[in-house]
Amino acid sequence: LVSAEHHPARSVVEVSGVPIGPDTFTLIAGPCAVETPEQTLHAARLAKTAGATLLRGGAYKPRTSPYTFQGLGEQGLKILADVRAETGLPIVTEVVDPRDVDLAAHYADMLQIGARNMQNFTLLHAVGETTRPVLLKRGMSATIEEWLLAAEHIAQRGNLNIVLCERGIRTFEKTTRNTLDISAVPVAHALSHLPVIVDPSHASGRRDLVVPLARAAIAAGADGLIIDIHPDPAYALCDGAQALTHQDIQQLAQAVADLARVM
Ligand code: PEP
Repeated sequence: LVSAEHHPARSVVEVSGVPIGPDTFTLIAGPCAVETPEQTLHAARLAKTAGATLLRGGAYKPRTSPYTFQGLGEQGLKILADVRAETGLPIVTEVVDPRDVDLAAHYADMLQIGARNMQNFTLLHAVGETTRPVLLKRGMSATIEEWLLAAEHIAQRGNLNIVLCERGIRTFEKTTRNTLDISAVPVAHALSHLPVIVDPSHASGRRDLVVPLARAAIAAGADGLIIDIHPDPAYALCDGAQALTHQDIQQLAQAVADLARVM
């Protein structure tokens, strides 16, 4: 269902009127985690300034340590919905438990499956049974074939509105949090008709690398980017080190404008 062999034309996935796919370039941006209404609104306004047409924000946070902030749950979904009403930006949010899928789908415009859940087949089936578009992140240790088969699990349940997201894989290199597998973009495009976007924030874990990796992703043919933005990263409850601030977003907007125009 997701292979290019059976469907040679590239697909466009619409998220509440915002297209992701060929002939367009989509910037998704926002806070890693929804913390407060003020922080989320501020981050959404910064995202809009950078040219984002979709707002990201995690209400359910799959954290490595159980002693760190785990997200606000439904309260976070409500904040996202309020910020959508204020800014007009449709929302993309992660769901980590099949029991929360209907609730998340009630509030969100697009459901995200995170790297850690790429092979949580029960969760894949649950989002496959909704009508919400799905952003499917590549697992940190997943091959491209495994990633595409995970997409197939969603598609088989009737939901073909899937966007693939390369977010870095685990390698021996420790300078960056993960290693952005830039070749995954053209490879996934060759094997599948689904749109492919890149998350340079979670790939690198480093603010200073987000714009250079964003440029690389655009040059490799990505259909869009998903980027962390925080109004005050020093106080972020999650992944502050990779969040762009108001000082960086102009550079990001410039990178998108420079490269997306010539692609
Ligand atoms: C996220 O986007 O909030 C996230 C946790 O990303 P990943 O699943 O790629 O680690």
